[in-house]
Amino acid sequence: MKVIELLGVQESFQRSCERIVQLFFEESTVRFPSKPAKEEGLAISFHTNDLEDTNQMRITGELFENKTKVNAQDVIFNINEQPRKKVEKQGVSFVLLKLLEEYTGMEQPWGVLTGIRPTKLYHMMRREGKSKEEIAEILQEKYLLQPEKIQLLQQIVERQLTVVPDLDRIGEEVSIYIGIPFCPTMCAYCTFPAYPINGRNGSVEEFLMGLHYEMEKTGQWLKDNNIRITTIYYGGGTPTSITAEQMDALYAKMYKVFPAVENVRELTVEAGRPDTIEPAKIDVLNKWNVDRISVNPQSFTDDTLKAIGRRHSVEETITKYHLAFKMGLTNINMDLIIGLPGEGKEEFSHTLEVTKELQPASLTVHTLSYKRASQMTRYKEKYKVAGRDEIHEMMEMASHWMKKEGYVPYYLYRQKNILGNLENVGYAKPEQESLYNIMIMEEAQTIIGLGCGASSKWVDPITGKIDRYANPKDPQTYISKYEEYTHKKIEQLTELFSRKRTEV
Ligand code: SF4
Repeated sequence: MKVIELLGVQESFQRSCERIVQLFFEESTVRFPSKPAKEEGLAISFHTNDLEDTNQMRITGELFENKTKVNAQDVIFNINEQPRKKVEKQGVSFVLLKLLEEYTGMEQPWGVLTGIRPTKLYHMMRREGKSKEEIAEILQEKYLLQPEKIQLLQQIVERQLTVVPDLDRIGEEVSIYIGIPFCPTMCAYCTFPAYPINGRNGSVEEFLMGLHYEMEKTGQWLKDNNIRITTIYYGGGTPTSITAEQMDALYAKMYKVFPAVENVRELTVEAGRPDTIEPAKIDVLNKWNVDRISVNPQSFTDDTLKAIGRRHSVEETITKYHLAFKMGLTNINMDLIIGLPGEGKEEFSHTLEVTKELQPASLTVHTLSYKRASQMTRYKEKYKVAGRDEIHEMMEMASHWMKKEGYVPYYLYRQKNILGNLENVGYAKPEQESLYNIMIMEEAQTIIGLGCGASSKWVDPITGKIDRYANPKDPQTYISKYEEYTHKKIEQLTELFSRKRTEV
């Protein structure tokens, strides 16, 4: 475990410095002592000073190894455009990244950006009136992004504004997320609120009773307040793991209690696990005009599927994809994961070859992340994954392949502990993008979460400030407390939207 000392860093941006260090040293401890320690090791010391008569600040960093200075960097930023503290934070991050890039020889494609949503920063600058060129310059000069990442952000933002031209005003509406917490079996990398459907974690019927109740109360509130729904998304878990009859009753309730479901821009049901897809369920999805589903292969190598605990085979994914497509569900998303255990370029290339035959409407390419609670993290030594360089190469393979096959990137997010410090990118054939994914990634509007583990996200229409409210993750608690949670949510929604009406 590497220990790194950072001196002269303000408390409010110590966390972001720690995240930058972890881009270079996955297993590291970062300390912020007031004086250099006596032990040997790596230390970086920062100093800031204002340049006389210029409205500029110089931020300097010196890197010491075993108490010997080995490198120094500085940067000069203007302090008249932004709050001083923000400029200092940017400067310290900049210098820290530069010093560590030189020290390790590693390059960080996302520069100093360690957050989940780099596209939000792009949208923010766009809303401030900055041109494409100005934004590119800031991203390159101040945030140290590499040109291909800037280009990716540009492409994504342009696509989002094409498919949701009213993105900047969509906060007047809401989207709905409905969480069904059951799956046929558990996958090894899973940290979603998912429970084996035949397990003992609460009864499906009781859970659905609670969900129907939440839908009724929320639908009534939306009608009373005359608020439109932009998109509805069923996730989980696997929403198609319940029976066709249960699905039918759920969607009938949705049409009955929510306002104008026929005018909703998009209705998605995840059918991620191919082993849950059957003709009777596809009939139900068609009956209620579901626009999009997802059938998730993750990989087209059987050994990998076994290793990660998915019960279905490659053949079943392909058969179920064709079945859904032939029965009229043509807008199908597929999720692929780069860096699954035992997979390198060869296996990933095979996955792309099979995907080429299928040509799904959209594809989300994830880079595996080690989430704290997953089995794969707990038993890390059991799961051998590709190295950083190979992960980068696979990501590049994916992006070239997508371009060649006519897919365009339209949303992106990053995660902590993501292999190779890369990103997850959603690609789609033109006009097949998931609007819900754009809503959630750009935090463009309030999302009301219903069901197990569903998190509601309140987006303040005036300040853009985000608050969250999470439903219980496990079905037992949900079943005993859904009324209480529903009322609390309605109270918060009323407060949020009354604020909006008073201030607009
Ligand atoms: S299908 Fe998805 S939600 Fe279900 S166990 Fe696997 S990863 Fe988790």
